[in-house]
Amino acid sequence: MSGFTEQTLSFFNASPGEYKCIFTSGATAALKLVGETFPWSSQSTFMYTMENHNSVLGIREYSLKEGAAAIAVDIDGRHGGKSAVKIIPHTVQRRGEIGCRKKEQTSDTYNLFAFPSECNFSGLRFDLGLVNVMKEDSYEMPGPTLSHSGRWMVLIDAAKGSATSPPDLSKYKADFVVVSFYKLFGYPTGIGALIARNGAAKLLKKTYFSGASGTVAASIADVDFYKRRDGIEEYFEDGTLAFVSIASLRHGFRILNALTMSAIYRHTMSLALYIRKALLNLRHVNGSRVCTLYGINDPELLCNEMGPTVSFNLKRPDGSWFGHREVEKLASLSNIQLRTGCFCNPGACAKHLGLSHSELLSNIEAGHVCWDDRDILNGKPTGSVRVSFGYMSTFEDARKLLKFIKSSFVSLPPQHSISDLLGEKPVPASTEGVERVTRTYFLKSITVYPIKSCAGFTVESWPLCSTGLLHDREWLLKSLSGEILTQKKVPEMGFITTLVDLKLGRLIVESLRCKEKLQIELTSGQCIAEREVMEIYSQRYEVQGYGSEVDTWFSTAVGRPCTLVRSYAFQNHMCSNKNRSMGPCRDLEARLNFVNEAQFLLISEESIADLNNRLRSKLHKGSNEQHIEVDPSRFRPNLVVSGGKPYAEDGWSRLKIGQTNFTSLGGCNRCQMINMAFTAGTVQRSNEPLATLASYRRLKGKIYFGVLLKMCDSIKQEAWLHAGQEIVAYAV
Ligand SMILES: *Cc1c(COP(=O)(O)O)cnc(C)c1O
Repeated sequence: MSGFTEQTLSFFNASPGEYKCIFTSGATAALKLVGETFPWSSQSTFMYTMENHNSVLGIREYSLKEGAAAIAVDIDGRHGGKSAVKIIPHTVQRRGEIGCRKKEQTSDTYNLFAFPSECNFSGLRFDLGLVNVMKEDSYEMPGPTLSHSGRWMVLIDAAKGSATSPPDLSKYKADFVVVSFYKLFGYPTGIGALIARNGAAKLLKKTYFSGASGTVAASIADVDFYKRRDGIEEYFEDGTLAFVSIASLRHGFRILNALTMSAIYRHTMSLALYIRKALLNLRHVNGSRVCTLYGINDPELLCNEMGPTVSFNLKRPDGSWFGHREVEKLASLSNIQLRTGCFCNPGACAKHLGLSHSELLSNIEAGHVCWDDRDILNGKPTGSVRVSFGYMSTFEDARKLLKFIKSSFVSLPPQHSISDLLGEKPVPASTEGVERVTRTYFLKSITVYPIKSCAGFTVESWPLCSTGLLHDREWLLKSLSGEILTQKKVPEMGFITTLVDLKLGRLIVESLRCKEKLQIELTSGQCIAEREVMEIYSQRYEVQGYGSEVDTWFSTAVGRPCTLVRSYAFQNHMCSNKNRSMGPCRDLEARLNFVNEAQFLLISEESIADLNNRLRSKLHKGSNEQHIEVDPSRFRPNLVVSGGKPYAEDGWSRLKIGQTNFTSLGGCNRCQMINMAFTAGTVQRSNEPLATLASYRRLKGKIYFGVLLKMCDSIKQEAWLHAGQEIVAYAV
């Protein structure tokens, strides 16, 4: 095992006589160890660069708790040269009383300066000469300077940088260096190290033995590195680290040594350079730049100052930003995994994205919701897209990424684009200011989904009521904790088949998991539970549950305890989307059952046919996916229409089916749910058809297919829809 210590030390060119290697569960644990055991005093200062991982920022807590000062800084003069390095301080942070800190610093005062060898947000590399600058006190710091008389200890967070360029500790004698092995080899997670200079390690020990406070002694007990500082075996015997992991570490070092770090460095840097140059050169058809790169202002510096990490955001031709989550999701549909966000580096994030303190805070408060992420706030991106190259990356990876960005985000000369059809510019139809009337459409089929997220049934004719199709989405399943069950969380729901028999007055449900069908009377007093009020998607419903027989049946069918509830009355219109922009509900006036957005979803057969053509031609272009043919049911529509041109429905403002008038509420935004296929009792997932739709039906981060409708008229008795009815569509 000690061979492993030596391997680690030699990786950093650290002499075993001068440095110790303490194994931890990761870089974060190593940083915590330093924070907990550093000899802080009220005269100490913890100074750290703005660009730092949260794990480094965590040290601040320990320093402040011991009465020390903490200060974030920017470093000027990274590019070497003769002039002294300038350190630009932010506000000094302190906790508690000032009085007791009037004492001068003494030679026993220890200060800590922490910086990353490579910023994990932007890839910016810090000059390791900073180590010597700090230790020799040869820096300039304007403003309310901190006393220089104590000793500066320097910590390098090499977790990111070591993968391609480990600090050379024979040249830059940092006191502490932290590393995580999975960042070097790609595996295994859960092992890292603190490399500490002997003198510095002794300081930590002293704190440990003096037992400065109970918490320090207690929390360090589980590392106990003093007793085992050389006996790595004992540490492993704790069972903390699996032997498999250790074996793989040896294997990891063997790979790096065989490739050599200098070759890894050149390889990854050339990939990053290729990507940076290509991204900087991307232009929209109007000539505007597509990509903003972070951490680099001067293209001359492209190769020297930046590691193999490329951090960027993309803009539309009009200068607005593509959200980073949108980029990430589209990439994953193309089987490219990107990391986006702030990467646990709030300082760098704020600095490069130009976010203020309050904006950072409000971003945190806004939270993140699936497919509705706030990746843009007040017109500014709240994170970035990051590409990191390692020894395993290939030129093919880089090229695939570029191809994806070009095809998904760079605007080409105008063709027939989705924005012409949806909302943005109305279809140029009415030359004389008269509404165009088209009569080539027919109602093909009608589908009712009585229970939210369960299968629906298709009928030739069906009555309408004030909520839409009679009994559509009138029931739902909720968990015992009150959470609404949906297919997203419980795909099994898609296998529950439903049928409403109006003559018998029954809802009939079937499941492969239940021997018997379940029949629920529509009118009788089978509902026995108390009526209660439920809030769903910020709307209020009066609902009623059933007895245990019904609930047991559904619990068996979905494989988890749940209860069935029926909507009786839609209480009021809480759907105040103007104030709560999060709510998905689009239809602000109509009465609704348990639908997400609107009373009806309409899909066109012609649009489906066009989509299937595209899916087919993608297959011919040699993608290795299996061919997928979708039918309308994939989109869970209520109404399928036929006739006309594909996507003509996008341009409709109103339509009339038989005697009933409908208003279009606009396109339906699609998510991964349409990638699930329910066949023969199993759910199959793929990237299609969403990936293909994303390539031509995307507008402002949303992917549209089908349109949402509501009825215009209040429903008189006996209004029915019939398959085969003619549809008259009006385009504004
Ligand atoms: C990943 C990373 C860390 C945290 O490492 P863990 O292994 O997750 O503890 C710290 N700093 C930087 C710069 C990193 O990239």
